[in-house]
Amino acid sequence: MVLSGLTVTICGGATGGCAAALLLARAGARVTLLERVAEPRAIGAGIAIAENGLAVLESLGLGPALAVARPVTEVRIVDANGRTLLAPRGQPPRAVLLRRSTLQGMLLDAVANEPLIDRRFGTEVVRATTDGEVTARAETGEFSLRADLVIGADGVHSRVREGGNFGARVRSTGIRYVRTLLEADVATGTEAWTPAGLFGAFAVDGGTYAFASCGTSALGSALDAGDLTAFRTAWTRAYPPSARVLAGLKSFDELIQNEVIRVDCARWADGKLALLGDAAHAMAPNLGQGANSALVDGAVLLDELRRHDTVAAGLAAYQKRRRKAVKRVSDASSRLGKLAEVTHAVPRTMRDRLLMPVVGLFATTKATDLLLQEPTETLLAVGRSR
Ligand SMILES: Cc1cc2nc3c(=O)[nH]c(=O)nc-3n(C[C@H](O)[C@H](O)[C@H](O)COP(=O)(O)OP(=O)(O)OC[C@H]3O[C@@H](n4cnc5c(N)ncnc54)[C@H](O)[C@@H]3O)c2cc1C
Repeated sequence: MVLSGLTVTICGGATGGCAAALLLARAGARVTLLERVAEPRAIGAGIAIAENGLAVLESLGLGPALAVARPVTEVRIVDANGRTLLAPRGQPPRAVLLRRSTLQGMLLDAVANEPLIDRRFGTEVVRATTDGEVTARAETGEFSLRADLVIGADGVHSRVREGGNFGARVRSTGIRYVRTLLEADVATGTEAWTPAGLFGAFAVDGGTYAFASCGTSALGSALDAGDLTAFRTAWTRAYPPSARVLAGLKSFDELIQNEVIRVDCARWADGKLALLGDAAHAMAPNLGQGANSALVDGAVLLDELRRHDTVAAGLAAYQKRRRKAVKRVSDASSRLGKLAEVTHAVPRTMRDRLLMPVVGLFATTKATDLLLQEPTETLLAVGRSR
């Protein structure tokens, strides 16, 4: 299908929505990008972008902007004493770490320079219907838009998903994470699985990105009470290297909190609606593939629309190519997340001594290919071809 003249409404202007907007607009589609947040630039803490996400971003000409990101030189999970629990054999796939605001900023700059994208920020999608109508609310009031294709890139609590029959399962995992950015260079450079859950601190552009799950009741209570001292104390007891990292926090409000929610959809398309990114497949963060998968979604969606004569046929092929591939990654991420949350001493010792060597046997090149979902050359070619 030639995309020139195709009208597309994209709901949600974060990683998935911006990348899809760029891919489709550069293929000739006329895109309207609706984003609830008026100034969606300064968001989040840090993010790891792996080979698959990098290929999509590079295909969009963002390679030079990505030069500020810090390369991941080693992939290794350690215990609280620094002993290696898991280290994939062979060369790990290429990956970088950067501030989320840096990633979002480069996508927004590219979107702003794309004449076929009409940006409407500060605009909240209220509902979407399978015939391609989207109703949204802006400062000036409510309005409706009709398009040949509507993409729900509006995250875990997607409004677009509510408008179609996607067979969605939205599950709360009960696992809580905190993330923060620190100005100082206090990276530990590894992810540690500790008696309190998982803790990592990695260098990003202009500082350190730290993240932690909060698997014990002491940490849960500290979060509920907004008590930074109790939070630091509990972490220092479980994992002494965390003390140096957390010392840089000035207030509790610098911690961004999330509960991990998983979304699985039986269908990714219904009528003129299609889902992409977390709206379709929010997953545990343990393999760092949520945003990367959202980027791959956009590239595959474009590829399949081009290969088929109608939007309906393109969407059916998109769903077929993506759903199973993402589910495999999402399942693996959940399993890894559960292992990281084993906090009691006996099962933790059994995990570390007996289970992790077995898990290590599966950390092969084949597993990496499944994780990355699509060949890098394919992803590069889709975004580059006009
Ligand atoms: C602790 C943690 C760490 C993570 N680390 C990584 C990592 O290292 N690498 C990785 O690849 N992934 C990671 N992820 C996952 C990643 O954050 C998500 O998968 C990714 O942000 C999904 O992008 P998205 O564009 O689909 O959705 P979102 O980022 O959720 O964006 C949705 C957008 O839609 C907008 N929106 C929502 N509702 C509406 C509405 N009604 N109208 C208009 N706009 C709306 C929102 O404002 C937002 O801008 C992590 C997740 C967590 C929780």
